[in-house]
Amino acid sequence: MLLRHTPKEITERKALTVNPAKTCQPIGAMYASLGIHGCLPHSHGSQGCYSYHRSTLTRHYKEPVMAATSSFTEGASVFGGQANLLQALNNIFTIYEPDVVAVHTTCLSETIGDDVPQIFSKAEADGKIPEGKYVLHANTPSYVGTHVTGFANMTKAMVDYFAKSKEHKENRINIIPGWVEPSDMKEIKRIAGELGIRFIMFPDTDNVLNGPQTGKFTMYPKGGVTIDKLMETGGSRGTLALGRLTSGPAAHALDTKCKVPCEILDLPIGIKATDRFVDTLRKMAGVNVPDSINIERGQLLDIITDMQAYFYHKKVGLVGDPDQLEALTEFLVSIDMLPVHIVTGTKDKKFEKRIMSLTEGLPCKVNVKSGADMMLFHQWIKNEPVDLLIGNTYVKYISRDEDIPFIRFGFPILDRIGHSYFPTVGYRGGMRFLEKILDALMDRQDRDSSEIEFDLVM
Ligand code: SF4
Repeated sequence: MLLRHTPKEITERKALTVNPAKTCQPIGAMYASLGIHGCLPHSHGSQGCYSYHRSTLTRHYKEPVMAATSSFTEGASVFGGQANLLQALNNIFTIYEPDVVAVHTTCLSETIGDDVPQIFSKAEADGKIPEGKYVLHANTPSYVGTHVTGFANMTKAMVDYFAKSKEHKENRINIIPGWVEPSDMKEIKRIAGELGIRFIMFPDTDNVLNGPQTGKFTMYPKGGVTIDKLMETGGSRGTLALGRLTSGPAAHALDTKCKVPCEILDLPIGIKATDRFVDTLRKMAGVNVPDSINIERGQLLDIITDMQAYFYHKKVGLVGDPDQLEALTEFLVSIDMLPVHIVTGTKDKKFEKRIMSLTEGLPCKVNVKSGADMMLFHQWIKNEPVDLLIGNTYVKYISRDEDIPFIRFGFPILDRIGHSYFPTVGYRGGMRFLEKILDALMDRQDRDSSEIEFDLVM
């Protein structure tokens, strides 16, 4: 009963966050950087920040996350971190031999005001960046924004640093998958492959953070988009960006820089969002949707119709990131569930409006807040209980205290596996999502049934 002190009465809090529904910007930047092949992420700040970023990613993906740090001490805090970063670049390229180093800033280096592009110029002039090797950077001060912003900033930096404008556009599409799991990136690529589309995906953490156990340690796994491919993104016919917040800035930057038009869609979670994803791919590439994809859609629809009685008007509480929650809310409404409490820690003006429009007409009041915390979420639940909780691992405390079934989804998931290997995007991912929802609800029904009501067939 760890959160038993959460009061039911809600009082307005402006200066206090309790149990944040977010984490810090560099974690998102580090995750995006790992989606570049042969990349060593570099945290320009103190060792404490870097340890936190690495350990959070390592715990979520259950894979060793390689990164480096500028290792600030008191000296760097006073005089700036240029000397540390120059030394670090020299050491990294000499000892660890990555193709590229992706530097993200931290609260400390941002407060000092370190100018990373200027430090890169000095490193280049001093010969500390070897021929054929690359650097890029993103500003990720964590006192503004969250891990979501950090991911978006680093993904946009890939465009800013590498995309090259080409007069002649190839019959090829850029896909920016947004902050999804490596398994989801694999699934998005599989669907595009089924449609026979040529594409470049960036970032791409498939085969980086979901690799097989081979008995051998590899510093730079096989996966990730190469720098050559990133350069070619400027010569693609269009960009499909999944996730308004995580992929939108990179897609717009590519349009501005290289005149590659973009479509920005929701993450393809659930039947409607996947329909829009497949349809947009079809139109952009001028191809037909193959039967294999139509069959998967039909199977998802079959589960929805077969199990409708279990979904109908069940109340759900959601915690997560805006891109994921918008798609998930639409999915839940489409199967007649009632998402009634929705919280994200990332501040976003459009989020609340979008959720209200997705839930318009539901026979219940919907609470939604961006830039909010899990204490408020818990208070809403105390006042209006729900049948199911969906969110990251931290929601388990609320689930236990209130005795509500719980599905882990989002970031971070620190106490379960599966998310790296089994997708929740696309029609197949939708099927897996429904299986998880049904397992949670039906297990609860079994647990709470009297002996007379306990049924073999449900
Ligand atoms: S100091 Fe800033 S960058 Fe470092 S861990 Fe804390 S929030 Fe993240």
